Amino acid sequence: MDITSLSVFENRCWVNGQWISAQETLEVKNPLDNSILTTVPVLDDVVIEQALLDAEIAQKKWKNVATGERSRLLRNWFDLLIQHQDELATIMTLEQGKPFKEAKGEIAYAASYVEWFSEEAKRAYGDIIPSNATSEILVFKEAVGVCAAITPWNFPAAMITRKVAPALAAGCTILVKPASETPLTALAIAKLAERAGFPAGVFNVLTGSSTRIGQIFTQSPIVKKLSFTGSTETGVKLMAQSAPTIKKLSLELGGNAPVLVFNSANLDQAVQGVMDTKFRNAGQTCVCANRIYVQSEIYDAFIEKLKVKVEALKVGNGLDPDTDIGPLINRKAILKVEEHIQDALSKGAILVAGKTQNSDANWCVPTLVKDVTQDMLCAKEETFGPFAPIFKFENEAQALAMSNDTEFGLASYVFTQDMNQFIRVSRGLEYGMVGVNTGLISNAAAPFGGVKSSGIGREGSKYGLDEYLEIKYVCIGNIS
Ligand code: ADP
Repeated sequence: MDITSLSVFENRCWVNGQWISAQETLEVKNPLDNSILTTVPVLDDVVIEQALLDAEIAQKKWKNVATGERSRLLRNWFDLLIQHQDELATIMTLEQGKPFKEAKGEIAYAASYVEWFSEEAKRAYGDIIPSNATSEILVFKEAVGVCAAITPWNFPAAMITRKVAPALAAGCTILVKPASETPLTALAIAKLAERAGFPAGVFNVLTGSSTRIGQIFTQSPIVKKLSFTGSTETGVKLMAQSAPTIKKLSLELGGNAPVLVFNSANLDQAVQGVMDTKFRNAGQTCVCANRIYVQSEIYDAFIEKLKVKVEALKVGNGLDPDTDIGPLINRKAILKVEEHIQDALSKGAILVAGKTQNSDANWCVPTLVKDVTQDMLCAKEETFGPFAPIFKFENEAQALAMSNDTEFGLASYVFTQDMNQFIRVSRGLEYGMVGVNTGLISNAAAPFGGVKSSGIGREGSKYGLDEYLEIKYVCIGNIS
């Protein structure tokens, strides 16, 4: 597959309505075989600083563009994303590794944020608050200003659109630094934004040194808001760097999602839910099941059923239509999975399916291990790979205590047919999101986000627009 033959292929940066190159470049590799797909620019500081100035000028005009027009441009972009779904998905599979069918799913999911916020653009309602006969309290919702986004490689399209679409809907301009592993999906998306007709400087994609771009974005007083999705470690750094300029922040950071399968669960539903949340994107999502707690009465039956499904997963080239699990993003990711498997087995866990060691390639065989305990590494850290550790529990209180015993609080999942139990447990889980009898919770209409070290803010839904709006209070007094 020659990536350069795709009509949405682009390897230059999209800055202030221009496609720009740089002397220095960065290689983009296919994780399947580490072959070089192309190179992208390493922008220098002067160009990045100028991009911020241009985005500031553009924002002054963009905030005054009628909401109906902003909505129409977003709708154009949505239509183009859907029309080019296959090409975008091919680029994504080539640079990220995920199976083509999942990549297509991600493009549809990414586009759904653009569609959703094309509609929400018209609904940034303010308020009139009752006061007294001689005054009125008005609340205006205004665009935050110039925004910056730093995004990860695991969802190269969706993590961009769920920041860019609400920003543009609100009247902000935005500069995106995609992950260095997956800049081509971001640039392809920008190519379609250009065709959609957004004015110059409204949406920009900049590639180069992560730390340098991160420093410039966070130190600049022009940038009024930073939205970041990635590791908690980097999130902490960016938050600290943003402190001197008091930026608004949205942070979608690491997770350590528990799944609680109770005795009353519909077993087939629970097994399917775990397959959905554990093995999507080869386990490389921040809402992936990281710890699977199963109640004692159904423990053996659940593991038997799950084992059959895990062993049926086909590992291979993402472009092969039969592939369920593509390569992991890089060797470091494989080593982390292996470390978690080895650690669990060395502390007494039992291998049920898969392998303890993987080959030299970037493959990771889906692995299932039982009798895992809270002292093992996989209970504390996000594995980010196709490794499913099963823990046994006796009662609800114990399951909740173990689930909440982590610094993270992004997604969690519960499988039970007992209505009172799902309410009790949903209340008890210290997480931003709870999936009940499902492993699939992502939806443009829903507020995605975490608590504790998993971050700040929500993406998607009506709340996702608020992240890009400031509140202005106008007091009218002395009304006679
Ligand atoms: P992951 O381990 O999933 O790659 P990271 O937090 O390292 O998570 O990366 C997420 C995004 O943050 C990527 O775009 C990456 O290039 C960027 N990034 C990593 N370190 C920094 C940093 N110090 N400053 C700014 N951006 C960074």
